[in-house]
Amino acid sequence: MEHKKPSRALAISPRTNQIYDLAVLRNIFPDLSSGRHAIAQINLNDVIYAAALEQKLDCWDKPAVTQRLIDEYTARHNLLYTYGGWMECRDFLWQNTYMRAENKFIHLGVDINVPAGIAISSPLFGRVIHTDYDGGSDVDWGTSLAIEGGKYVYIFAHLAKELSVKEGDIVHPTKILGTVGTWPDNGNVFNHLHIQAIPTHVYKKHKLANFVNLDGYGRMGDERRLSYAFPNPLLLLAQRN
Ligand SMILES: [Zn+2]
Repeated sequence: MEHKKPSRALAISPRTNQIYDLAVLRNIFPDLSSGRHAIAQINLNDVIYAAALEQKLDCWDKPAVTQRLIDEYTARHNLLYTYGGWMECRDFLWQNTYMRAENKFIHLGVDINVPAGIAISSPLFGRVIHTDYDGGSDVDWGTSLAIEGGKYVYIFAHLAKELSVKEGDIVHPTKILGTVGTWPDNGNVFNHLHIQAIPTHVYKKHKLANFVNLDGYGRMGDERRLSYAFPNPLLLLAQRN
């Protein structure tokens, strides 16, 4: 089978600096194990492209396959966890999904690859303005919620169905929101938490039309605008603390 060569994510601005303070992650995952070099970025597009070439995988966007490759990468590099970066291009990984039609392969959030069932706590003071379940097909958001925290709304997606908060709740750091989900209920993707920041006024405009229009991916070629429209959520959260 022919494999499309992946394109590389572009470094757009100084805000693409993807070195995170582990303290930010511990605010989100109180049970996260700690350790030096415990977490590092994994470029899923590259890892899966390489695996597809070496192992002749005929499918790579199924959650069990993606999960195995993430787990192998994590073990091989002696990591505890990995994360998928903001503004990463995933045109190889998702080439057979709905994203193809619009070339929407630029990842607008950060994916923290942690085990299913791990508790998620609010990293900020804010209000839960939306909860949703979107699990109709592959690569959906599963259970998600949105927290309004001033100028930005933060979306947390691929949670387990049972949430610990409801719309209208005021949340604060350490308040448990829910747990990380697993497939197929989490939108049929590998175990991870997707976090995305959207300016509050943009969120409110889209939300009037349809929550699912707020996708986690943007069009290739539009990276510069996207990087300003959907800033790196972990850097925003780090600045708040
Ligand atoms: Zn994501």
